[in-house]
Amino acid sequence: MVDFTLSEEQQLIRDTAREFADKELAPNAGRWDKELHFPREAIEKAAELGFMGVTIPEEYGGSQLGNVTLCMLLEEINRGCASTGVTVSVHNSLFCSPIVKHGTEDQKKRYLPKMATGEWLGGYCLSEAGAGSDAAGLRCAARKDGDDWILEGTKLWITTGSEADVFIIFVRTGEDRVGGISAFIVEKTMKGFGVGKKEEKLGIRASPTTEILLDNVRVPAANMLGAEGGGFKLALDTLDGGRLGIASQSLGIGRACLEASIQYANEREQFGRPIGRFQAIQWKIADMATHLDAARFLTWRAADLRDRKLPCTMEAAQAKLMASLTANNAAREAVQIHGGAGYTREFPVERYMRDARITEIYEGATDIQRLVIARNLLG
Ligand SMILES: Cc1cc2nc3c(=O)[nH]c(=O)nc-3n(C[C@H](O)[C@H](O)[C@H](O)COP(=O)(O)OP(=O)(O)OC[C@H]3O[C@@H](n4cnc5c(N)ncnc54)[C@H](O)[C@@H]3O)c2cc1C
Repeated sequence: MVDFTLSEEQQLIRDTAREFADKELAPNAGRWDKELHFPREAIEKAAELGFMGVTIPEEYGGSQLGNVTLCMLLEEINRGCASTGVTVSVHNSLFCSPIVKHGTEDQKKRYLPKMATGEWLGGYCLSEAGAGSDAAGLRCAARKDGDDWILEGTKLWITTGSEADVFIIFVRTGEDRVGGISAFIVEKTMKGFGVGKKEEKLGIRASPTTEILLDNVRVPAANMLGAEGGGFKLALDTLDGGRLGIASQSLGIGRACLEASIQYANEREQFGRPIGRFQAIQWKIADMATHLDAARFLTWRAADLRDRKLPCTMEAAQAKLMASLTANNAAREAVQIHGGAGYTREFPVERYMRDARITEIYEGATDIQRLVIARNLLG
């Protein structure tokens, strides 16, 4: 049975997130983007509202609301600020969720309460200079030394890299291309851990993206996440959830584009009438709204499967593919509807267009989502 009704709890969380985005994020996002300011104050408020422990069980201080609710919340946050949105998404989906799913009792007790309150922020380090779409080609490595592992190498493109306190880091512990990868929980205070170059980016400029340097970092064996050699499987399973976060980010950016376009189309007059009276503008707005609804249903379907612990790899890839294309199209059309004004920093659609671009690149580029979907269909 398909039921599209949101529970009272979900409506309350969505409305709280919407109010938070309207009051705390949207009025400041343009300035943060310009000044490259990491919005720690906004993240702290998000934590107070319980948004940093959405997938964490109550016994470890979280709210355990699940993936569908996380998607709703992320859409609202990203509607206000995509940099804050990706920070909250990576923390919940790429750090907390795999600890909940694959962590030992000791790891859960040690990390989850701090993550749920937002006292600590989490990051996820898979990519390297030579390993992007082909993540299994990673070269960072760990060697065993007594009861410890020594990690060595450089990770690239790490979201919240300079601000997070603890990271899940994927490294090579064996020869086998896929079966030789393991995951470790690494704290920023561990000796030899460093933050390298910070990227100058087109969009999500308030979210710091950095290198992570591993200079013989000594990590206790107790910090291995999952089984030795099970890291790649864990990374891909985690990305199924992460892609729902990015699909929701796309929905949030897309909705911001739609809302800005409706407002502008009703206000701006040319040829003696609001431009929203012209059919060309009406069709753009109708298509934007319809594609966003379609992408949202795909996203919530995959999130519901994940909440019910059913496979959702293809469905998550479909959601991310559809939502990210939709966000980029909505951003392009929003700038078009705004005309010259849309090309300036006077209006936020210019930022939405820059922010939307990343949704087609990270957590698997567009063609990688197509590859995942096709593999599921063709075998
Ligand atoms: C702002 C930002 C934040 C990021 N945050 C993180 C993070 O927190 N943690 C992390 O681990 N990584 C992160 N990444 C890395 C991101 O996931 C990678 O950039 C992404 O996976 C693409 O890898 P690449 O950049 O090496 O591109 P490449 O893999 O070199 O791809 C380049 C192009 O080739 C295409 N291509 C590659 N292989 C194929 C194929 N087989 N078939 C068809 N087309 C193909 C791709 O689709 C793409 O269009 C981030 C990146 C950015 C830009």
